[in-house]
Amino acid sequence: MSVSEIKLAGPDITEHEIALVEQVLRSGRLSIGPMLERFEDAMCLRLGRTRAVGVSSGTAGLHLALVALGIGPGDEVVTTPFSFIASANVILYVGARPVFVDVDPKSLNMDPARVEQAITPRTKAILAVEALGNPSHMAEYEAIAKRHEIPLIEDSCEALGGRNAGRPCGSFGRVSVFGFYPNKQITTGEGGMIVTDDDRLADRCLSLRNQGRPASKDVGDGGIATGSWLAHERLGFNYRMDEMSAALGVGQMDRLDKILAKRGAVADMYFSALSGNAHLVLPNVDDRSEMSWFVFVPRLESTFGGEERDRIIAGMRRHEIGAANYFPCIHLQPFYRERFGYKEGDFPIAERVSQRTIALPFHTGLTPQDIDLVSQTLELMIARETHLRGEEWS
Ligand SMILES: *Cc1c(COP(=O)(O)O)cnc(C)c1O
Repeated sequence: MSVSEIKLAGPDITEHEIALVEQVLRSGRLSIGPMLERFEDAMCLRLGRTRAVGVSSGTAGLHLALVALGIGPGDEVVTTPFSFIASANVILYVGARPVFVDVDPKSLNMDPARVEQAITPRTKAILAVEALGNPSHMAEYEAIAKRHEIPLIEDSCEALGGRNAGRPCGSFGRVSVFGFYPNKQITTGEGGMIVTDDDRLADRCLSLRNQGRPASKDVGDGGIATGSWLAHERLGFNYRMDEMSAALGVGQMDRLDKILAKRGAVADMYFSALSGNAHLVLPNVDDRSEMSWFVFVPRLESTFGGEERDRIIAGMRRHEIGAANYFPCIHLQPFYRERFGYKEGDFPIAERVSQRTIALPFHTGLTPQDIDLVSQTLELMIARETHLRGEEWS
C-alpha cells in the first residue's frame, strides 16, 4: 500500500468554475472584461460594501491601499508581527515604517491597548490582520482608528466569511483587502480584492492598478490602445486581475457558503479529535466573533519550545503529513532584523506563540480518515517529546 501525502492546503474547484473559466477562454476577452466586474459586484454584495477593485494579488491590493491613502516616507503604520510577511512588507514598499505591537495571547491579533499606546503624531494608519482567520478585536481597532482620525487598513486575506461584532470581516477597514492564493478560503489562482465605501479611494485604486490610467471605464476595446488608453495621470502599476482568474472567483463566490461549511466541518473534526490532549491549545474564538476557517493551527502548551515543535513537524512530514510552522514572527526575519535591529524578546508574546504553533493540513478534500491519521500522528510525536523529557507517556 502506498502512502499518499496529506497536503497542507488545496483549492476546492468544481465543474462550475471550470465552465466559467472556459467561457472566458472561448470569448477571446482575457483581460478587462465583464467577469472582473461580476466578481467585484459579488464581493460588494457579500460584504455590504459599495466598491470593490480586483487586483493581481492580496499583496498588490494592500500595496495599492497604502499608496491610495497617501502613506509614504516618514510615516508610521502600526501593525502586527504575527502575520504572513506581506502585511508588513507593503509598508516598506511605500517607504513608511512598520511599528509592531505585541499580540493578545488568546486571539493572536494585536492587543488593542498596545495599539493605542503605539500611536504617535507620525502614525498614518493601523494595518490590522485577522491572523489565521481570527476576527477578534476588529471593531476595537476601528474605534481606535476613528478616535485618532487615522484610517484602519484591514488585511482580511485570511478571513473571508468571518464575523466580528455582528459584521463581516472586510467591513471594518476604511480599506479592506482579500487575497485569493490557492490556500485561502476561495481562490483565483493568484488574485486579490480591495473593498471600501470610499469612492475617491476606490477610483484611485482603479487607476493605480491600471498603470495610472484614468479610472473611467473608457479604456478602449478590452485594453487595445485608443485615446485615453495612453493617458497616464499618476505613477501606476500593472496590478490588474485577468478574466480567467475573475471567472474562477465568480464561481467560487457562487459556492462560498458551501465551501465555508465544508471547512467548518473539517475544523469540527479536528476539535473532536484533539480537544482531549492537554499538551495542545486549540484555536480560540471569542464570543463576539465567528471564525471562517483559513487554517487549523493548534499550539503546544507553554512548556514546549521551538526545537520540540520543529521536531514534531519534521516527524509529521516523515509520515507525509503537510504540517507547517505558521507564522514565524515578521520582526525576526533576517532583513527586518538587519534593517531595524529587531531581536528576540522584542515582542515576547508573539514570539512565544509562534514557536509553538503547528499548522495542520486543512482543506475541503480531507476525509475523516485523514483527520484521524493527522491527529494520531500529531499526538504520537507530542508523546515522544514528553517521553524524551522523562514525563509520563500520555
Ligand atoms: C495571503 C496573505 C496575504 C497576501 O496575499 P497574496 O495574494 O499571496 O499576495 C497578505 N496578508 C496575509 C495575512 C495573507 O495571509
